[in-house]
Amino acid sequence: MRKPNKFERHESRLATTDEQGHRVFLYPEDVKGKWRNKRTIFFWFLILLYLVLPWIHIGGKQSILLNIAKREFTFFTHTFYSHDAPLLIFIFLGIPLFFAFVTSIWGRAWCGWGCPQTVFIDAIYRQIELWTEGKSRQREALDKAPMSLLKAAKKLSKWILYLLVSMHIAHSFIGYFVGTWELYEITLAPPSSNFGIFTATWITVAIILIDFGWFREQFCIIACPYGRMQSVIMDDHSMVVTYDEKRGEPRRLSEESNSESPVLEGDCINCYHCVKVCPTGIDIRRGTQLECIACTNCIDACDEIMTKVGKPEGLIRYDTELGKQGVKVKKIGLRSIIYLTLMTIVFGGFIYMLNQQDRLRVMMLRGSKSPFQIVRTTEIEEIANHYKIAIDYNGEKVQKLFFMIKDPVLAKAIRVATPRAPWQLKKGHNKANIFFRFNKKILIKGNRKIILLIKNGDTEKEATLVLEQEVNLAGPLR
Ligand code: SF4
Ligand code: SF4
Repeated sequence: MRKPNKFERHESRLATTDEQGHRVFLYPEDVKGKWRNKRTIFFWFLILLYLVLPWIHIGGKQSILLNIAKREFTFFTHTFYSHDAPLLIFIFLGIPLFFAFVTSIWGRAWCGWGCPQTVFIDAIYRQIELWTEGKSRQREALDKAPMSLLKAAKKLSKWILYLLVSMHIAHSFIGYFVGTWELYEITLAPPSSNFGIFTATWITVAIILIDFGWFREQFCIIACPYGRMQSVIMDDHSMVVTYDEKRGEPRRLSEESNSESPVLEGDCINCYHCVKVCPTGIDIRRGTQLECIACTNCIDACDEIMTKVGKPEGLIRYDTELGKQGVKVKKIGLRSIIYLTLMTIVFGGFIYMLNQQDRLRVMMLRGSKSPFQIVRTTEIEEIANHYKIAIDYNGEKVQKLFFMIKDPVLAKAIRVATPRAPWQLKKGHNKANIFFRFNKKILIKGNRKIILLIKNGDTEKEATLVLEQEVNLAGPLR
């Protein structure tokens, strides 16, 4: 009778839970290989980008600054304001479509190559673990051993290093929201002077520390919404990390394998090396599974074994389900084409809207409860209409605005007044009162539509037209 292998996974239970549903901690073995090297280089590129980007300032602006308090969002010199909310619709639609497109072609490439969870854990936290507690077997033995001075020292040094790294990551993260130099000054001041930011930073540190140091693969398996969606997004044209069962089965040393007829054996020697290195503890030989984060560890592990036994690499490899069956697949499937088309439309709309940014967006609302007021002096009786004008402006240069009426006859009969003339329009959301005074004779059945010209220039004479705005003037019926 074959001795049960502890890496043989249960039919229906997660590798990270026992019969009672308690968590089983994994001790994935370290792996070497070409995919490991590529990922390490890419991870450090992403980490450096993440750490350096908020310190880069272009044209006096932080490269990426998401200032929620001021409702200003800067991306490489371009600043969006709260009134740019329609643009957010394009972003919220575009990002999932981009992920859907990438997933439909390259499977869970995001999980294995770009997700902060994978990047930080693999490049930093697992390395700290390796330095402080040793290799997989040593770590497992340490956890099982009773508490001792050595065990306490190893655990303490690991968690201190985790804490320092988590603090650095968290401060960089907060720097994207409050500004790096501002955050630097805040950190030098007493916590009481910026208690909100102080609390937010430490909550972020705690989340990162717990997630990257302890929760780890559990997040990918039970909490990540993207992991749940992947099966709907992917199809037989999508690249996945996959085991070639045609080539690998029947496995050597397995019960099905017949030692008297070795020619029937597949290339898999059933060494479980692919399972031992898997950070989510799965056996990829059972097919594509939700827990697979496409980290490629099993590819490197199996390639190493294949080289040792003198077989070609690629028993576990990146491939499509169709490609694995020998079907020649198109580079891009119908599903990917649909995602790409939708993505192009959405991002096209975003670029179009972005180009409209420097235009003024005007909103005029009545400023008083009553649509008009009657102003009497000893000599005249006039009708006054009060409007509130709001203009969103995204340009950098201060504009001087003049308001005038288009119709030259009406322009003589109606006076337009703003608190300051010209009105100085600055970047952002500008608000002002605007008053119209006129004789009721200009009204037709108590109303009169006029076209208000908004012009920009140093003097009223030189000012050029920025836009025309229709305004409805109201007054008494008679
Ligand atoms: S099955 Fe392979 S690619 Fe998937 S998570 Fe495990 S080691 Fe990584
Ligand atoms: S590493 Fe390769 S040979 Fe070893 S069990 Fe996995 S698939 Fe089979």
